[in-house]
Amino acid sequence: MNNLTRIDIKYLHGVGPKRAEILEKELGIRSYYDLLYYFPFRYVDRSTIYNIGDIVASSDMPYLQIRGRIISYSTHGEGMRKRLTAAFSDGTGIAELVWFNNIRRVVEMYPPGVEFVVFGKPTIFNNRLSFAHPEMEKAGPATQAKGFEGVYNVTEKMRNRYFVSRNICQLVDTLLANIRTITETLPPDIIATHHLMGLHEALVNIHRPASLDALNRAKFRLKFEELFFLQLNILRYTRMRNAKITGFRFTTVGEKFNDFYFNHLPFPLTDAQKRVIKEIRQGMNTGTQMNRLLQGDVGSGKTLVAFMIMLIACGNGFQSCIMAPTEILATQHYETISAMAEKIGVSVRLLTGSTRKAARDEIHSMLLDGSLDILIGTHAVIEDNVRFANLGLVVIDEQHRFGVAQRAKLWKKNTTPPHVLVMTATPIPRTLAMTVYGDLDVSVIDQLPPGRTPVTTLLRYDNHREAVNRFIGEQMKLGRQVYIVYPLIHESEKSDLKNLEEGYEYICDTFRSRKVCFVHGKMKPAEKEFQMKLFVSGEAQIMVATTVIEVGVNVPNASVMVIENAERFGLAQLHQLRGRVGRGADKSYCILMSQPKISKETRQRLELMTETSDGFLIAEADMKWRGPGDLEGTQQSGIAFDLKISNLATDGQIIQLARDTASALLEKDPELALPENSRLNRHLHFLFDKTVNWSLIS
Ligand code: ADP
Ligand code: MG
Repeated sequence: MNNLTRIDIKYLHGVGPKRAEILEKELGIRSYYDLLYYFPFRYVDRSTIYNIGDIVASSDMPYLQIRGRIISYSTHGEGMRKRLTAAFSDGTGIAELVWFNNIRRVVEMYPPGVEFVVFGKPTIFNNRLSFAHPEMEKAGPATQAKGFEGVYNVTEKMRNRYFVSRNICQLVDTLLANIRTITETLPPDIIATHHLMGLHEALVNIHRPASLDALNRAKFRLKFEELFFLQLNILRYTRMRNAKITGFRFTTVGEKFNDFYFNHLPFPLTDAQKRVIKEIRQGMNTGTQMNRLLQGDVGSGKTLVAFMIMLIACGNGFQSCIMAPTEILATQHYETISAMAEKIGVSVRLLTGSTRKAARDEIHSMLLDGSLDILIGTHAVIEDNVRFANLGLVVIDEQHRFGVAQRAKLWKKNTTPPHVLVMTATPIPRTLAMTVYGDLDVSVIDQLPPGRTPVTTLLRYDNHREAVNRFIGEQMKLGRQVYIVYPLIHESEKSDLKNLEEGYEYICDTFRSRKVCFVHGKMKPAEKEFQMKLFVSGEAQIMVATTVIEVGVNVPNASVMVIENAERFGLAQLHQLRGRVGRGADKSYCILMSQPKISKETRQRLELMTETSDGFLIAEADMKWRGPGDLEGTQQSGIAFDLKISNLATDGQIIQLARDTASALLEKDPELALPENSRLNRHLHFLFDKTVNWSLIS
């Protein structure tokens, strides 16, 4: 199998250097292997030839083929709108074939009276069955028995050069005819247990299905294989990490925790908070290092959880630190946490890029002599010059850009690596978590504290702008603050910034008596902080911003969030943005502004936002609509992978099966050292050696 990667695609009969270049540039196909794993995205049934008279007209007819002769041609329209139609008859009825370009060539290629097989997706036009730009082929004895055929994605560039799905089909046929056997990658017992199709047969059938059933079995086999190796890789990594790296045992919750819990809790914990604290506490007492993801919707109370588990670290004689992505967030955490810590005699300090030298020096020495219990800050807290006497726990807040490699860096902060808790408000569907964050344990806060009024979400079109402006004005009269968010489509492009700047001017112009601040990602950090502070302090009533505000800022007095061009945002992102309001006692609003001309699907997506505030539901829907690749965080997790056939949104059951199977295999053969697993081990290395940096744990 692996040698197929070494054969350059240009050596395949029918390719040659020119097409090889196109294949590589447009589809990333370089070798025989790449072509073999370039799967069709759908299939057409070419086993049947329909009678025109038997086709039942409907609004969505499938691709099908008919066989007959062109009776006559005629042209209609002028210039750009010119089109050619042909009346096509098979004796049972007449269909219309239509072409909008290459008209002269069509007439030459398909002369009337010659028998053709016509293939395409019919529509109804002028009460007639109509095929636009159909595929045509001279009828011959072989036409009847074509069976299923794969349809491959090709790019616009390829189409312009007449390099289409059909051509890929032919290349794949040639390739399959050339390869004698494709070596199996899975061990026989796994194949037997799950009744899997063999690899060779599966690859043949994924391109050229013998039947619908064979196609389904081929798909299942290839999805299973893909997910199995992915899980095997993740689980092997996790096992090696746990075997090599011991963790601190936090055997007690300690006095500070109990003092806080019994005497100073600001409000009763939700059941979900209690449960995750318990889970985390157990995770810090297993003897291995904890690596855990804590998920909880915006406002679910993660900070309090973080604080309480830091108290556990403290009670066991360890220091902890909490890291936030921005200075503002770090400062907010510091204010919340130091207020609680003060009551129970736990020391807390804030360290950010703007901490003065004297304070910084003091923090450094307090860390080293052990008198500082909790350090809060930005990335500054993990810089090399920050050394701890005994760091036992690191909490990373709102930080999905914290991958395996960064986590590994933390491990050097103590002779034994500290426990790590990554907190995120991005709801991650289970299947995705199992894959992207497959090396982490997961805890979920699935409940909001009582008494929250959900944010009222409205969908408004651009022609309602004046009414929306009036509403914003009224809210500000009531003393509230307002966010107005603009999308950046390509962060780097000037035109987007212009868009935002125009928006800013428009807002300043519309609300002249109000102070408006302005924040975007391309600003210098100091300027950004300054603008943010204007809003946090209440000096500015309106903040015009890009999505930079999506991460955790807490301004309870802000009760309106207007999102411009909401149709351009992903749902998960809209949900995050919406989470910025509804944090105080006031009734809060999120107004999704959209162009009136949007597709039905887009409208449905936006309407879903107005109907639910359930982050998980929204994340699932987002993943189904946009695919997991687009979900924030998937690219940054540090475990790189590329799914060719499986779909994290819909293949949850196969993911679970693959994970269980991989786990059972490692249970039996942790090092993959048994002879029957040697081939599998080689394949695993072939797939992942480039993507995982093993040196981190070896
Ligand atoms: P997030 O999970 O988004 O980080 P926070 O930790 O900022 O949420 O909490 C949001 C708000 O909810 C804070 O004002 C916090 O004080 C409050 N809160 C947290 N836990 C509870 C609780 N159990 N009961 C009531 N309010 C709570
Ligand atoms: Mg938070």
